[in-house]
Amino acid sequence: EQDIFSRVQENKIKQIAYLFKNIEEDIVTTHILKDSQSLADMFSDKNTREQYEKSLSLLLTPSIKYMYILSKDSKDRFRFLLDASKSDKANFYQKFDVENPKYEELYATSKPQVIKQKDMENLYLTYLYPIVVKHEVIGILSVDITTKIHKVIAKVIKPLETFFVVLIIFIFLLMLMSILQVFHYFRTRKKIFTDPLTQLFNRNYLVEISPMLNLNHYSIAMLDLDRFKVINDTYGHKTGDFVLSTSAQVFKNSIRESDILIRYGGEEFLLFIYKRDEGESANKICERIRKNIDSYSFNYENQEISVQVSIGVHESPSQEKNLNEAIKIADKMLYIAKTEGRNRVVFYNDRLKNRDHFNTKDINFVKLALEENRVLCYYQPIYDPINKKIHKYEALVRIQSSEGEIIPPASFLPNIKHTNIHYKLTKRILSIVFDKLKHSEDFISINMNFSDLINKDIENSIIEIFQANKELASRVTFEILESDEIDNIELLKEKIDLLYSFGAKVSIDDFGSGYSNFRTILDIEAKYIKIDGTLIKNIDKNEKDFKVVKSIIHFAKETNMKTIAEFVHSKEVYDQLKLIEIDYMQGYFISKPTAKLSTTADLFNEPPSS
Ligand code: GH3
Ligand code: MG
Ligand code: MG
Repeated sequence: EQDIFSRVQENKIKQIAYLFKNIEEDIVTTHILKDSQSLADMFSDKNTREQYEKSLSLLLTPSIKYMYILSKDSKDRFRFLLDASKSDKANFYQKFDVENPKYEELYATSKPQVIKQKDMENLYLTYLYPIVVKHEVIGILSVDITTKIHKVIAKVIKPLETFFVVLIIFIFLLMLMSILQVFHYFRTRKKIFTDPLTQLFNRNYLVEISPMLNLNHYSIAMLDLDRFKVINDTYGHKTGDFVLSTSAQVFKNSIRESDILIRYGGEEFLLFIYKRDEGESANKICERIRKNIDSYSFNYENQEISVQVSIGVHESPSQEKNLNEAIKIADKMLYIAKTEGRNRVVFYNDRLKNRDHFNTKDINFVKLALEENRVLCYYQPIYDPINKKIHKYEALVRIQSSEGEIIPPASFLPNIKHTNIHYKLTKRILSIVFDKLKHSEDFISINMNFSDLINKDIENSIIEIFQANKELASRVTFEILESDEIDNIELLKEKIDLLYSFGAKVSIDDFGSGYSNFRTILDIEAKYIKIDGTLIKNIDKNEKDFKVVKSIIHFAKETNMKTIAEFVHSKEVYDQLKLIEIDYMQGYFISKPTAKLSTTADLFNEPPSS
């Protein structure tokens, strides 16, 4: 308002003031010329009025609508002398009611006055200019200027408006950018924590959540697909990937919202099973996962693929020092599930009674045992049922703890897999066995896996021992685990040929445990096939197992290999095997592994049938 008033004053009033001054001078001159008594006298003449009205009306504009001349009558009341306005025109000598004191002030001071008024839409400015004759005010020239507020404001705020529009666009863009950034942040975060193949969480996520994870609220389970390498090898990696991602979905559908599933490694998954609410038990959930995988029809490019999973569970991980220790135990249970035939769930609680047996011994335990000479071998007879004598012995590693306890390999072998300590241990076993051979006439077999066989260090020590004890080599059999790690048959053959060159024999271990490549077996030219215990132990009850074993024996005979059955734990199994003409047998029914080499007299707590 202030601004508008002063603009009007600046621009219009200044101009009008000049005009008024001229008109006033003209009026005064005419007044004096006509020798009128008063201004009213002078303007009572119609011609004079019209003449002045005409000149004043030239000044009218849309904002200047009223222009008139006033004077006081004898009773000091204001009267119109003329009105140049186009509308609402006042008549000559019409009364004009004055409220504003400025009119009187003008009379008192002989100075122009400005009256400012306003309503909602307009600002009104009345400019009063005195007509003075001989220092006495005789009338007033008056103009009303109306200014429409919104028009001015619109003009004034136009640049502001542009500014605000730009500002709003800017803010909007800024917000959009922030939203995009947040979106991007969450997407990257999701990417970092998601395994691209299975869309499950990955290990980064485990690292992220483990500090916040309350282990009291969860059981943990390690899941590992059985014989997954076989699937890869048989159907190709693409199919392997399909099986992996589908399995992940099957797992996901078998668990609940509150459980956390992580792809832990290649085909290993870590599952946190929420147990806080009295919902389903870890047992139920793991069994459901196992069954769902077992019964799911994996179909890829018209190939029906059978998939199984083994699961190791630690129900109370909070009992352990930390999550890592708990995972180790679940892993251990998984290992047991694998060794006990796969496609099963093993719970730590169930095994607690055998806690020592399954107590995991870490790498330092083995290292110390090697240093302190506490590694030893037990020997289990491999029996020849036809000639009723011990054919040879299998050397089985044990570690005597510093308390004198005999620790079985299941407690420490998994923890040293592929480490230098593992190779050191194999070398130690070799030297123990050769020492034994030196002091007896017997035959002994030693377990070796592929990674042992291709280890340069071990190879050198075998060569060294064989060269030093040439006559002993023919009494040694290397039992090579028919493992999935064998990915280079050429290399395997090369190493086996080296053993043959010294006159040693080779046996295929755990044959038929799922991954049996007959061609490879023939290529290796093994002397023995040891049939996996999982096929043997129920041979008296399971017809399929019986048939499989029978055909393996047949295959072996056809190809000049001798068969050995392990896990012969009962008379019934023994009898069945005899029936199908197995060559050799080993197992608790015949003899447990012992520190000393048993003799025939030590065998059979229960005598075999003829
Ligand atoms: P086991 O029953 O003892 O677990 O036998 P396995 O063959 O499943 O065990 P192992 O751990 O030796 O083999 C796992 C294989 O999984 C080895 C690796 O080549 C394969 N693998 C790991 N990650 C992937 C993957 O992302 N895609 C595919 N196709 N294969 C994978
Ligand atoms: Mg596996
Ligand atoms: Mg694995």
